[in-house]
Parts: sequence; structure tokens; C-alpha cells
Amino acid sequence: MSSRPHIVLPWTVRRTRLPLLNLRCVACHSGHATTGDGRFRVNANGKLLDVWLLVNCVHCDRTGKLTVHDRVPVRSLPPALLNDYSANSPSLVARTLLDPAIARRNRFTPAWDGCWELHTPPVPEDPWPLQITVTFHDPVPLRPERLIAHGSGISRNEIARRVKIDIPPNRRTTQDFSFIINPR
Ligand SMILES: [Zn+2]
Repeated sequence: MSSRPHIVLPWTVRRTRLPLLNLRCVACHSGHATTGDGRFRVNANGKLLDVWLLVNCVHCDRTGKLTVHDRVPVRSLPPALLNDYSANSPSLVARTLLDPAIARRNRFTPAWDGCWELHTPPVPEDPWPLQITVTFHDPVPLRPERLIAHGSGISRNEIARRVKIDIPPNRRTTQDFSFIINPR
């Protein structure tokens, strides 16, 4: 009998909202901020541009700014990108929050828990081994083992025994991947 999986199921990850940020408020010292729907502020100073993403403390509502670009030459930013900042493009807000350099510079970490949902088709009876492909409709950094446990109902211990996966299962990723669930 062939050991190749015969059944392939597609799973899809979608973002349901933007993440809260773990970010210290300078006024009330709470640790959480929100971008709301996402608002950029672009300030031109001669030929230099500053771009910020506005955030609000979830406790005292104080408005703060995350630095996205700091005194960069206007010409160094593509016009389409500038348009997206002016239009508060939702996907650009998400991309900004995903940028590790911006997170480091502004000392925040996004909290992605509860910001995503997984769409899974029904599993046929006794499908093992079963191959599952995971497609990120939106980039949400997730640990594969967490996603697999959520989607399959299989415990983490059992995942270690039954799941064959080619990427580190406990390192967050936003890249599509696939894995195989073997019989018990
Ligand atoms: Zn505050």
C-alpha cells in the first residue's frame, strides 16, 4: 500500500480584526493600545516626510504615535505607497504592525490572539494519512502547532507524534505551509 496521502484538505486563515498592541502608555502606564481601524498621519517638512500611525491607550484614550518613517526624502517613497498612507489603507496598517523593525523602534508587540479565524472543510471518515494545506488569506503570525491543534482538535502531544511538518512547528509564520496527519 502506498504511504502517500490520498486526501488533501485546504485550510484558510483570515484576519478578523487588527491586533491590540502591548505598548506602555506614557500617561497612565497601562500596557495596551489600539490602532482602531488605523489612521496614518503624514507630515511634510520641505523635502522630508514623517509618517506616523496613530494609536490610542485602551485605558485613558491618550493618542500616541508610532514612527513609520522618520524624516525620509519625499522621493524615496513610491507615490502609490504615499497614496495608501493618505487613504489609511487597512492592509497597509496591518503590514505596518507586522514590520519587526517598526515594532522594535516603537517598542511594541502586536497581540494576534483572537484576531483570526480558520476555515476548514469537513474531514471525511477515516482519512488517514491526511494532508492539509494552510493558506494565509491575510498575514497573521501564527504558530503552526497552535493552528493545527485548533483546526484538528488533536492535542499538542499527539501532534508531536502524528504530524509531519517541514517547518518549525512552534515558530510563528505567515507563510503558507502544509503538513500530514498520520493514523494513530
Ligand atoms: Zn493611558
